[in-house]
Amino acid sequence: MRRSSRIGVMTAMPQEFGRLASRLGVHTTERIGPREFGRARFGDVELVLVISNVGKVAAAATATLLIDRFGVDAVVFTGVAGGISPTVGIGDIVIADHLIQHDIDLKGVLGFNRFEVPSLKKAFIPADLGLSAIAREAAKAVASYQPYYHAVQQLSARLPEVHSGVIGSGDRFVSDHVDKQSLRAAIPELTAVEMEGAAVAQVCAEHERPFVVSRIISDAAADTADVDFIAFIERAAAVGSEQFVVEFLSRMRTA
Ligand code: SAH
Repeated sequence: MRRSSRIGVMTAMPQEFGRLASRLGVHTTERIGPREFGRARFGDVELVLVISNVGKVAAAATATLLIDRFGVDAVVFTGVAGGISPTVGIGDIVIADHLIQHDIDLKGVLGFNRFEVPSLKKAFIPADLGLSAIAREAAKAVASYQPYYHAVQQLSARLPEVHSGVIGSGDRFVSDHVDKQSLRAAIPELTAVEMEGAAVAQVCAEHERPFVVSRIISDAAADTADVDFIAFIERAAAVGSEQFVVEFLSRMRTA
């Protein structure tokens, strides 16, 4: 794997961004439209940090700016997601091996299959293998980082685990059982759902930039609210997501 010299770090929400700006020492900021891009340095790696806001369009627009305006060599996305597979629980961390846009459907039109992204001619967009391997190690470190697992334990009474799997993205918050089951039936490999990852994946694939997506499971993507979503993202996900970036960059530097 080529050693990246400039990395884009994205989250969708400020809660997922945590205190990254001060922790990584953002030295300059630039506003483009509604977003603020912050520059920082981690050893010999240059960073561009940004909060995209929620949804596929916001994520795609942000990833495009990171690549085209800021010239990043790779993109790291971290945030929260709803658990779809019964193997994942609240507080677990999922590293995407592939991403799929679960709400794109051109089936029967122009010969495309369901979920296929026309520009890429595929449905499952692979994340970068090398970066994902680093991300898994970083996620394991987060799972055993005391402030994180302590917060998870307090809210969900379980210890976090790390998984790899398919992450689905679409422009809706999945929060009812029927929706969850129909997604599972349509995409049996689905591990978790969120609203940005596969949009970042598409933009990065189109521009041949490696990327990685890490997601902390914040909810069960169903009507059963096991844990308060807001409490979870503020108390646990913020700590885990911020720590993930630091653990990832530390390993990236020595990879
Ligand atoms: N903006 C709202 C919360 C949005 S929650 C607020 O702060 O009030 C949706 C965010 O969490 C998205 O960025 C999405 O990627 C992620 N997410 C977490 N659980 C999800 C689920 N069950 N379905 C879809 N997205 C989910």
